[in-house]
Amino acid sequence: MRKQIAAANWKMNLTYQQGEALLDAILKENIQLADHQHAVFAVPFPYLIMAQTKLSARKNYAAAAQNCSDQPAGAYTGEVSAEMLRSININYCVLGHSERREYFSEHNQSLAVKTERCLELGITPIFCCGESLSIREVDAQESFVEAQLKESLFHFSNDEISKIVIAYEPIWAIGTGKTATAEQAQEMHACIRRLLKGKYGQQVADSIPILYGGSVKAGNAKELFGSPDVDGGLVGGASLVAADFIKIIQALK
Ligand code: PEP
Repeated sequence: MRKQIAAANWKMNLTYQQGEALLDAILKENIQLADHQHAVFAVPFPYLIMAQTKLSARKNYAAAAQNCSDQPAGAYTGEVSAEMLRSININYCVLGHSERREYFSEHNQSLAVKTERCLELGITPIFCCGESLSIREVDAQESFVEAQLKESLFHFSNDEISKIVIAYEPIWAIGTGKTATAEQAQEMHACIRRLLKGKYGQQVADSIPILYGGSVKAGNAKELFGSPDVDGGLVGGASLVAADFIKIIQALK
């Protein structure tokens, strides 16, 4: 079975102590993950070592960075390189979250480079894509997401693309409480898989996990993850509450 992933995105929330307590509360639940199930926690940079130390003691639990630089090293004050993440054994990095695209001017070309940096170092990129409300209103979501994937990812080889996780996150559903319906999510995930198939063939397309993000909650995760092309979720708000994220992990196929 394809990898199924419950990925928490803490964004810029929680103190170190609150983050540690949240992880402890989730781990205390002792959820045993099957071989194909993974729980990933994208935490702020200063918490990565703490999170990775706690999580790596459990099967298929891991910490993730929320971003990395498109530069390998050098005079880029405030930046964190993929190599730095690798040096502390971080295996996942979220890239191209819509908040980074909007507030930090990230674009498809620089995200192509960031994705390359991660792949070179054996870090799995969780590559985010998704349309705004104005694009959805004119029914242009498929061509918009297609351009994001083509411009950032479609220069990779079969082998490289097989190491990427995609997160479809309609911007109108992020942090708004307005979740896409299971049908809307499945429709876009099927579209993304069709695009992958067109470029890389059926076998590669079938192997790539596509996560849904946008107001995933304890109460809707099971239904969303139940769709055939939805392989788990990237979760903001609900990942900050232990009881909620526990239910979201348990909702994985
Ligand atoms: C996110 O941060 O990627 C996200 C989907 O947030 P929320 O779950 O709060 O909508």
